[in-house]
Amino acid sequence: MNCTLCPRKCGVDRCKQVGFCGVRNDESTVRAAKAMLHFGEEPPISGKNGSGAVFFSGCTMRCVFCQNYNVSSEAFGKEITVSRLAEIFLSLQEQGAHNINLVTGSHFVPQIIKALDIAKPSIPVVFNCGGYESVETLKMLEGYVDVYLPDVKYFSDENALRYSSAKDYFKTAFGAVEEMLRQTGKYVIEDGLMKKGVIIRHLILPNCYKDSIRLMNALEPFKNDVLISLMSQYVPMGRAKDFPEINRRLTTFEYKKVLAECERLGFEGFTQERSSATDEMTPDFDLSGL
Ligand code: SF4
Repeated sequence: MNCTLCPRKCGVDRCKQVGFCGVRNDESTVRAAKAMLHFGEEPPISGKNGSGAVFFSGCTMRCVFCQNYNVSSEAFGKEITVSRLAEIFLSLQEQGAHNINLVTGSHFVPQIIKALDIAKPSIPVVFNCGGYESVETLKMLEGYVDVYLPDVKYFSDENALRYSSAKDYFKTAFGAVEEMLRQTGKYVIEDGLMKKGVIIRHLILPNCYKDSIRLMNALEPFKNDVLISLMSQYVPMGRAKDFPEINRRLTTFEYKKVLAECERLGFEGFTQERSSATDEMTPDFDLSGL
């Protein structure tokens, strides 16, 4: 297969070589680093029992500040078959997970669909991604995914190029959110748990709060239908030390500026406090649960 699953459109045969996402695999396998009940997501995703997260290896974004750098950029993980992936979904469901949370799976969409065809869980399926998605690939997920959780990162093309090598990021992410919303409709939360819809996450970066404010204004057309999850817990990790302007934590001033703009625009959603800024929130990627 000549892979064009994401907007990078590398066109490589993934059985023989790696593209930008850094993973070589065939049509019946994926690569993952961990499967677990995850309690660090937004309240209607984690609930009290946890979200059944599968963390896939490799990434179509590879942000320089990634907190999972060895998994995203070095593709640390284990090869598993689609039938094993289906078993993992059912195992997480049996452990009480409120949903199946597919973390960074954009480059494995055909295999994820095969696994869901083998064993469609009775709980919602969450597609947790970087926002840099191909509309054609998202259309393949229609009817399989109930909740989209895109992390929309930048408004500025310059920042997107510098930190994620994705100059056309915002235009692409905006189109992706439109498609996600077309599939799910306005969000639905029942008994405190997300049943369907879109939560747009945004991690505020140091020295970039003005870009975050521009981003929130650009996302205003979605404000009545999506929830916003504003994340202020940035910790410089990965290669952030090579980018001095983002090699620190966020200030309270920066966070409050963006929060105030979200409130002014009338977004509803969640905030993650600066006090949770610690690398302890990063799961230990030890291949467990696979
Ligand atoms: S999924 Fe990977 S190989 Fe395919 S187009 Fe995207 S980066 Fe390239």
